[in-house]
Amino acid sequence: MLRLYDSRTRRVEEIVPARRGELRMYVCGPTVYRYAHVGNFRSYLFADLIRRAAERHRLRVTACQNITDVGHLEDDTDIDPHGEDKILAQARTEGVDAFELARRYEDAFWCDTQALNIRPPEHSPRASESIDLMIDLIGRLIESGHAYVAPDGSVFFDSRSFPSYGAISGNRLDDLRPGHRHEDSIDEKKRFHADWALWKAAGTKRQMTWESPWAVGYPGWHIECSAMSLHFLGTPIDVHTGGIDLRFPHHEDERAQSETAVGREVVRHWVHGEHLLFEGRKMAKSAGNVVLLSDLASRGLDPLALRLALMEHRYRQQMNLTWNDLHAADKTVRRWRARVADWAESPSRPMSSDHVQRIHEAVDDDLDTPTALRVLRELEKEPAVPAGAKFETFVYLDGILGLDLASDIGQPREAPALPEDAVGLIEERAAARSRRDWPASDRLRDELAAMGVKVIDTPEGQRWS
Ligand code: AMP
Ligand code: ZN
Repeated sequence: MLRLYDSRTRRVEEIVPARRGELRMYVCGPTVYRYAHVGNFRSYLFADLIRRAAERHRLRVTACQNITDVGHLEDDTDIDPHGEDKILAQARTEGVDAFELARRYEDAFWCDTQALNIRPPEHSPRASESIDLMIDLIGRLIESGHAYVAPDGSVFFDSRSFPSYGAISGNRLDDLRPGHRHEDSIDEKKRFHADWALWKAAGTKRQMTWESPWAVGYPGWHIECSAMSLHFLGTPIDVHTGGIDLRFPHHEDERAQSETAVGREVVRHWVHGEHLLFEGRKMAKSAGNVVLLSDLASRGLDPLALRLALMEHRYRQQMNLTWNDLHAADKTVRRWRARVADWAESPSRPMSSDHVQRIHEAVDDDLDTPTALRVLRELEKEPAVPAGAKFETFVYLDGILGLDLASDIGQPREAPALPEDAVGLIEERAAARSRRDWPASDRLRDELAAMGVKVIDTPEGQRWS
């Protein structure tokens, strides 16, 4: 059985789906105002590993991963998200229409996740196309007394109406202090400083606004995930994932909204991945160390080198990634593919059940991928396991690891490079032949042969192998 660390219970829990044979999972999706970076992909990768581990247990996985294309404001780190919508701000900077910008980065996101072998979710609703769901949910929260309408038509969640607020992150309402960093008119409309906006009146804002029963406006970021998760997955939801920064306030607010709407605990297990640092620092535009998947490609690295490098650490430990790690992972992935292609030429043998079992156990144990990879390396070197068994075992385990390890089978092997000294000799020989100096030509051919380079003469000139 798969076990995962649950942020709310603070324990590693057995994941027993509520519905027989099916695991329902909600993955907080990207805000599509820029290219996702390698840190973001760390969060989507561990959700993909949960899927693969569950499927290994013959569970059908139904995942919903939203696309946030409206409502995520620039400063969402505190309980009071303020600032401009991230999409609108970036659209202004790039001088393009906000929706055009969002679609562009959404497309790029799907391309990147595909390159990383992260399987697509069964549902991927866009926030901008789910406004009706949100309006409906907000209406229910107002009706049940958990939300209230401010004079300008903004709607706020009444945080004090949800006594277990803070259960995931430990941030209890009593301990939260009003945020003084961005005082603005929103604060005056709230009854309590920890209340948050479900709907924001547009005021003079024109772009990305919708009609609603309260005011023309736009949704808050947190209500998006409640509305989409409840609609596409229903209740309960077995597993809800996201990066650690989403634990508070995003997931606390989502939990409050969803539970007060349906009257019971909606998410059975909250699972959070720790952050990725790059070359020892938090990835930030201002620090100039934001690394994209395209940066790997421009250094000639396979995108799946990132997948391997990330799996060398457990998802819930903070991790520092370096270019050296990525180069090393790239070499390993290529070596494994070449080995698998070699082993494919030997007769098939039954898998090494000992290695398979140890890797299954490691993955089931809260996605202990470092141990799984250690066992795989052991298997690679194990002289007692025949090549045909290594082949079967690697190919089977690749179903969990997702590294395309069988992709070199049947491919022409890479031509070996010409030794450096041979280049000069071949040129010298061409010159000798053009002046019809046959003794020199023969001598140079022998010298090249001694280096392992065979030359033959064709009407088009020399060819070497
Ligand atoms: P965003 O597009 O900013 O909403 O973030 C998408 C996902 O990436 C969320 O689950 C975040 O928690 C996660 N995330 C953001 N930065 C990092 C990072 N440096 N390492 C790991 N996950 C991250
Ligand atoms: Zn979310």
